Amino acid sequence: MSNVDRSTAWPYDERGEPGEFSYQRNAHPTGRAAEEALGRLEGGDALLFGSGTAAVTACVLGLCEPGWKIALAAGAYYGTGVTLSELGRWGLRVVEFDQTGPPPADADLVWVEAPANPFLTLPDWQALRAHPGLVVCDATVSTPVFLRPLDEGADVSLHSATKYLTGHHDALLGAVVTRDPAQRDRLYEVRLRLGLSAAPDAAASLLRGLPTLELRVRRQTETAAELARRLASHPAVLRVRHPGVGGLVSFDVADDAARTVETSTRSIANMTSLGGVHSSIESRHRWEGDRVPRGLLRLSVGLEEVEALWADLSTALAAIRPAPRRA
Ligand code: PLP
Repeated sequence: MSNVDRSTAWPYDERGEPGEFSYQRNAHPTGRAAEEALGRLEGGDALLFGSGTAAVTACVLGLCEPGWKIALAAGAYYGTGVTLSELGRWGLRVVEFDQTGPPPADADLVWVEAPANPFLTLPDWQALRAHPGLVVCDATVSTPVFLRPLDEGADVSLHSATKYLTGHHDALLGAVVTRDPAQRDRLYEVRLRLGLSAAPDAAASLLRGLPTLELRVRRQTETAAELARRLASHPAVLRVRHPGVGGLVSFDVADDAARTVETSTRSIANMTSLGGVHSSIESRHRWEGDRVPRGLLRLSVGLEEVEALWADLSTALAAIRPAPRRA
C-alpha cells in the first residue's frame, strides 16, 4: 500500500507523446494491475470504477439504448433499483421479476444478482442463457470464489468491490468484467467521460484483498452456513436465508424485535455494508422500508470464531421474547 503511485498526471515521452499513463482519470498503474488480477480471476477484461454504484451507472449509460426495458431481479440490492429509477428519467423502463424463473421475454437487458442481497435467491442460469437480451450479473456476494458469471453465460459481471473483493471495510470500489472488446471499450469511454474512475488507494486495497479472497470467503461461508443452521432452530427466529455460498445470512425475527437484536450484539458491529473481515448486522427496514419484512436482519459473517459469533447472537436473541413460528 505504501508504494501506491498517486500521481494524477505523468510526463509525455521525449517526442511529446502520452505513454500508457498520462492522466489518472483515464488509467493509473495500480488500477491497471488490479484490473489484470481481477480479470484473470473472472476470465475477462476487468475495469474498476469509483464504487459499485458507479459501475452500475456505467453499465446502464454505456450498454443500454434510450427506451430499453430492463428486467431487474426482485429482492436485489435496493440501491441498484434506486439507481435504475434515477436513470429511468432518461427513458429507461424498469420492471422487477423473480430471478429464480425466466426473465420477461421482451426485456432488452436482464439484471440479476447472485445471490440477491438481502433475500439471497439465486438466478436461473438456464433461463438466462435462453434469453436474447444482454445479461448483467451482480456477483458481489458470490465473488469469483463461487461464481464466474461470464462462464455461466452472462455478458457482464459486476461487483461492489467495496465488499468481499477488498474485504476490510476501508475502500469504496466497483468493478465490471466483460469479454466483448466493444463492450469493454464503451465502459472505458463512459468511465473516462463521466468521471466514474476509481482512486489508486482503492485499487491498492483490491490488490491487497485478492490473495486472501478465497481463504476469507470459504471461511466466511462455512461459518455463515453453521450460524444459519443454528438460527433455524432458535425459537425467536421465524425464517433464515443462506444459499450455501457466501458469508451473508438474512433472518427474520418478530417485527418489533429487530432493533433489540441489532443493538444487543457486542462483537458483531451494528452497521451497514458487508463482506469485511469483522462481522456486522443490521435491520434492513431502516433503508429499504416495506420492501423487506420489518423483522429482517442481515448478518455479514466475518472471520471470527463461530462459537464466539454464536454466543454473541444467542445473547442478543435472548433479549427478545420468543415469537410463534410461521407455517
Ligand atoms: N451491489 C450490491 C450487491 C451491493 O450490496 C452494493 C452495496 O451495498 C452495491 C452493488 C453498491 O456498491 P457501492 O456501495 O460500492 O456503491
